[in-house]
Amino acid sequence: MAESASVQHRRACHLCEAICGVIIETRDDQIVSIKGDPDDPLSRGHICPKAVALQDIHTDPDRLRKPVKRVRSAAGEFKHVTIEWDEALDLAADGLVNVIERFGVNAVAAYFGNPAVHNYGLLTHQNALFRHIRTNNRYSATSVDQLPHHLVSLWLFGHKLLFPIPDIDRSQYFLMLGANPVASNGSIWTVPGVKQRLKDLVARGGQLVVIDPRRTETAELATSYFPIKPGTDAWLLLAILNTVFDEQRVNLGHLASLVDGLEQVAAAVAPFSPEQAAEQTGISADAIRSMARDMAAADGGICYGRMGVSTQRYGTLCQWAIQVINIVTGQLDREGGSLFTLPAVDQVAAASPGGFGRHQSRVRGLPEFDRELPVAALAEEITTPGDDQVRALFTAAGNPVLSTPEGHHLEQALEQLAFMVSLDPWINETTRHADVILPPTSPLEHDHYDLAFHVNAVRNTARYNPPVFERPEGALHDWEIFEALGARVAQRLGVTPKPSMPPHAMIDAGLQAGPYGTHTEQGLSLARLQAQPSGVDLGPLKPQLPGRLRTPNGRIDVAVGAVLADCERLLADTELATPGYRLIGRRHVRDCNSWMHNYRRLVKGKGRCTLMMHPGDAEREGLTTGDWVQVQSRVGAVDVELEITEAVAQGVVSLPHGYGHHRAGTQLNLAQQHAGVSCNDLTDTDYLDALSGNAALNGVLVQVQRAKSPTAVQQ
Ligand code: SF4
Repeated sequence: MAESASVQHRRACHLCEAICGVIIETRDDQIVSIKGDPDDPLSRGHICPKAVALQDIHTDPDRLRKPVKRVRSAAGEFKHVTIEWDEALDLAADGLVNVIERFGVNAVAAYFGNPAVHNYGLLTHQNALFRHIRTNNRYSATSVDQLPHHLVSLWLFGHKLLFPIPDIDRSQYFLMLGANPVASNGSIWTVPGVKQRLKDLVARGGQLVVIDPRRTETAELATSYFPIKPGTDAWLLLAILNTVFDEQRVNLGHLASLVDGLEQVAAAVAPFSPEQAAEQTGISADAIRSMARDMAAADGGICYGRMGVSTQRYGTLCQWAIQVINIVTGQLDREGGSLFTLPAVDQVAAASPGGFGRHQSRVRGLPEFDRELPVAALAEEITTPGDDQVRALFTAAGNPVLSTPEGHHLEQALEQLAFMVSLDPWINETTRHADVILPPTSPLEHDHYDLAFHVNAVRNTARYNPPVFERPEGALHDWEIFEALGARVAQRLGVTPKPSMPPHAMIDAGLQAGPYGTHTEQGLSLARLQAQPSGVDLGPLKPQLPGRLRTPNGRIDVAVGAVLADCERLLADTELATPGYRLIGRRHVRDCNSWMHNYRRLVKGKGRCTLMMHPGDAEREGLTTGDWVQVQSRVGAVDVELEITEAVAQGVVSLPHGYGHHRAGTQLNLAQQHAGVSCNDLTDTDYLDALSGNAALNGVLVQVQRAKSPTAVQQ
């Protein structure tokens, strides 16, 4: 029999924020190869080792193809059995409406995981369900990640999505804190091929200064690397600001007539001298002053901080200070500094700007942001009796048992729910508690437009790609699940459902009305993008202020009252003086989230879930590489293999994120050495950025001692 011809499909990889263009070659229903797309104007042919996982996700035998419901076996154990779509959607609607009718709408909570932003149908159609469930109990991965970025963007620039993006290709000085883009490929900074871009910066005589408690893969490329005591970045940043003001280096450039509040900021940072910051951070006062001077003098300078500084007890203060450093050194809104994007579908124009503190969590009074509560509050909202106690949970593309603080306690709380439904392709550590799981089509079975990450990209581009494979008969896309479930919920509540247009039609409307739309020279529409499957180049980032600002008065007020008050909280804080090891996270280039540990190409070889410890600490504890140790925090303990390395500073230990797949009842086909332990069995729902409610996953106080046996992987 003659072999079928192969077909090449151009596509964006949706696995991480870099959104690289790929060429997927298929023959019949098989993937033959996955390569970088050299014609993609953003990624220029770059891919990372994770791209091959696109194939493993599609063919994963553990991925659900049909809905399942949870039943109790004769032996009393829970298991999930396959059911048809009509039964599954009816069960889901009945379960949700039953709780709403008995306990009110706030008794239903929703949690959206990080993969939701990588799949545009999940973003465009949530409202098809949630316009009928207007609960105050919405949660997402935002509050274990980038909430401080959104809050600072709202306060300084007037919109939660107005992120200043490092213009690395034209920069001469890059001060980077708590970020490891060589492993992550960039975050809140869509920058495919970042490793080469960092090397190019250094090769043209620029400086890359990396601040991190761990000598990361990115730090290895740096012209200067400074280990910092976990949780003290705010001290460093405020001391840099102190120096800029003290040495009269403030230069606002073309923003001079736009910025208010400098005097209040100068007064607030006055107590944070470089000498005092040196005591707190372990970085010398001379080095801190040099950072301030180099930022102020650079012909294109960037101050950027990511996960490591967001997820600590002063995450919002850190992100505010980073942007104020960019502003007062004249590096915001200039080429080679930090610039705002202008995406083809402009979310800044289309989405709400966000808001803060308009309601609080019931039990602890944590503030909402953008109609979401901090996820650190979710377990207590389920377990604490009273009006509006959470009785039902909807999750989409999330695994909060592994990715939110005190995941083991959330796991116990899930069993107290009256009803749980998950929109998810896997039975994982969270969804295994669901009464019904509704699996969407594989990512390669639906079309793709990246709605989220063009907002953060180093260049303005756009691409739309059709599905690679036909969907199996009867399978539903995630947006269709929202539509179908929303219609059933509406019907049961006596409301007339409103069908929405499909996601590609929304994108077409957004493109046509957008800044490069049919009223402009570029004339962008969906049809135009379809004709250019590798994407359309819309040019480099450009200065856009004041026009891009969305603040009510069109100005930037850097003296944010809540942040200035937080400076005083930091000054009075003695928590970091408590002796013990400080736990930080880490990420490997083959990791992204908890959902990527089921792919043989990504997890082959030696297990990566080890506790890193400095040789000096290990010697003092009498430990050697390969020993099993117990790590204990205020809220939990895990047993894990030790890895001794000079990459972490003394007093610091590091566990990677997203592991802990040893729980019974999941349907994942993981080898034992890759199951690992969850760092979120150690993180603490009381250990937060008090200003925003964002989880402080870094800097958690732990003790380390020899374990009796490797019990964690035997559970
Ligand atoms: S860097 Fe991210 S987007 Fe690019 S190939 Fe790797 S996983 Fe995919």
